Amino acid sequence: MSKKGAATFRSALGSGNGWNHSRGPSKGKQIYKTLNNLKITLLCGFVTILVLRGTIGLGGGGVASEDSTETMQDAGDPSLLEGKATDAEEEEEVEFERELNDTYSIGPKISDWDEQRRAWLTENLESGSLYNGKPRILLVTGSPPKPCDNPAGDHYLLKSIKNKIDYCRVHNIEIFYNLAHLDAEMAGYWSKLPLLRKLMLAHPEFEWIWWMDSDAMLTDMVFELPLEKYKDYNFILHGWDKEIYEKNTWVGLNTGSLLIRNCQWSLDLIDAWAPMGPKGKVREEAGKVLTEALVGRPAFEADDQSALIYLLITQRDLWGDKVYLENSYYLHGYWVAIVEKLEEVMEKHHPGYGDERWPFVTHFVGCKPCGSYGDYSIERCLKQMERSFNFGDNQILQMYGFQHRTLASFKVKRTRNDTDQPLEIQDDLSLLHPSFAQPILDSF
Ligand code: UDP
Ligand code: MN
Repeated sequence: MSKKGAATFRSALGSGNGWNHSRGPSKGKQIYKTLNNLKITLLCGFVTILVLRGTIGLGGGGVASEDSTETMQDAGDPSLLEGKATDAEEEEEVEFERELNDTYSIGPKISDWDEQRRAWLTENLESGSLYNGKPRILLVTGSPPKPCDNPAGDHYLLKSIKNKIDYCRVHNIEIFYNLAHLDAEMAGYWSKLPLLRKLMLAHPEFEWIWWMDSDAMLTDMVFELPLEKYKDYNFILHGWDKEIYEKNTWVGLNTGSLLIRNCQWSLDLIDAWAPMGPKGKVREEAGKVLTEALVGRPAFEADDQSALIYLLITQRDLWGDKVYLENSYYLHGYWVAIVEKLEEVMEKHHPGYGDERWPFVTHFVGCKPCGSYGDYSIERCLKQMERSFNFGDNQILQMYGFQHRTLASFKVKRTRNDTDQPLEIQDDLSLLHPSFAQPILDSF
């Protein structure tokens, strides 16, 4: 229960019990009665608290016992069980309100990261930032530290991370899941900025960081990022040059799935991108600038995507030549354009294309499955997230001889019989022993 809740509870107990209104008794009797009333009130209060603690701690048992007290302690603040922010968190958030003219800094200025990183790589890794001849990639994703507003939201966060783990295992990509607000001012969609910066600096061994939103899923388990194509670029997003530089559309690119190179240029970009992010007045005021500047943008606080587009439009000469707007495959794919066609996709094509024939990433933009206020109905979103998850999962399950019964079903069926020669099995997609995986070391 939050402090606010507790105060309401206390005031409800302390008033309107009717016992203090006895008519015309003597003073001694009155004192005696008052003491008695006080005792009864305290007793009632104590019993109520015990029952309440028991009910919350045992999830419906309703009896206060030593166990229930322990459960309470283990769970920490009971507000966690309800998925609410604690008062301490609310207070912390208010504390960070920044004035408009305060300049925000995402961290100490670094100017020689390329030199620092190169020296580290030479000293620590024989193969530099290559792994099996390829640049190392760290896939990064995350979600809010508190439970979702709806338990189904948490269930889909789990499915979504399982989906990413599967892809990463097959393709030798490492993965990092963030649940912490590294910078309270940069909460929400802005949280990827301090996180990406921190991970670049802490992990010089990775050449690329691949950010993926929690509401984006990999739907082509075979397709690989065409890194060779990006050798002269530092920042890769799904988008169209024309939509950004000519039309100034606010959906001309998407920041839900992006690749950023671990280098000085990227640190500079993040420095230039971050100032519209701090929560409160700064974010509110910046939102007005963005709505004014970008075509089709509704009025709301500054978001990371609009701020990036604004930066590219207003400072194209500084950043434009290192930004690659990809649209030859779905580095991000808008779910509405994809999900109804999945059966047709399965009928006509096979995984590996990554484009409209077999979309690489399906991103549930505007669904807010972990929050409460999405642009689409939550039923529609969850139904389509389930279908997309199963679509991707079928490509994983086929390695083990299983398939989902339908795209709508979590139930699976066998697609082949077990054999006494399991190593002779070659799965249809060659994901079991893929040619792009790490070579098996001849150690025995
Ligand atoms: N996110 C996070 N921590 C938070 C809030 C958001 O890591 O406290 C991440 C999460 O991965 C989420 C992403 O930020 O998917 C962007 O938000 P969202 O997907 O809701 O925005 P949309 O894609 O709908 O514009
Ligand atoms: Mn998203």
